[in-house]
Amino acid sequence: MTTPRIYKTEAIVLRQRKLGEAGKIVTFYTPNYGKLDAVAKGVRRPKSRLGGHLEVLTHSTVMLAQGRNLDVVTQAQTVESFAPLRSDLHRLSRALYTAELVDRFSPEGAESYQVFQLLLATLRRLATARDVDTVVRYLEMQLLGLSGFQPQLARCVNCEQPLAAMPNYFGLAAGGVLCPSCGPEAAGSRSLSLNALKVMRLLQSGSFAAVSRVRMNLGLAQEIEMHLRAYLVHVLERDVRSAAFIDRLRREDFWEPAGVSSQKD
Ligand SMILES: [Zn+2]
Repeated sequence: MTTPRIYKTEAIVLRQRKLGEAGKIVTFYTPNYGKLDAVAKGVRRPKSRLGGHLEVLTHSTVMLAQGRNLDVVTQAQTVESFAPLRSDLHRLSRALYTAELVDRFSPEGAESYQVFQLLLATLRRLATARDVDTVVRYLEMQLLGLSGFQPQLARCVNCEQPLAAMPNYFGLAAGGVLCPSCGPEAAGSRSLSLNALKVMRLLQSGSFAAVSRVRMNLGLAQEIEMHLRAYLVHVLERDVRSAAFIDRLRREDFWEPAGVSSQKD
């Protein structure tokens, strides 16, 4: 898409980094221009009119002027600030993980309105849902699909036989499920329970409403998270940094008396 010299767009802030004395480079995800970096001048000064509208995870309307190198933010107005994400570390950790995944999966300038919608819906769900981890599993599977890395869950990826209702295998390099004959031979394959396969299929082709009706025990939720996380790391060829934040919160919670929320800085 060719962009006019000055243009207005909706944008969700994925990340920021400092630039010079008082500026920042802000990485946005936009509906029509995909991921884009823009310069926000003077935004770190206390009196900046832009600052509050460009915080990470904010959904804003921004006005951008084409620059020689990066575009420059000239105006910004918050549409949704997702306040609950900022006051609850569990919600915040999942939202930051979401932003990092979308950032990693999105090449600069490759537009995807569906990714924008998925990101926006995920942040809204994370701000309100009781089960934030299911929100994240749905995001992971949907994002893999939209990025062309959809794991094959219908048949064995190797022999193409339909899968029997029994434990199978999940193969990272194979890119999907392997039957009990092919699974043990494949490098890096791990056992996949029937229930995990069913939920993963629903994550791939069901609506979020359908997924959120599924009741999972902790063991099943952990199994699905383990498979998806391993597959994401395999596809991205690196760790997802914010996953460590989620893990740390879970470990610390273990030591806290029930009912005490973790409000640590
Ligand atoms: Zn097979």
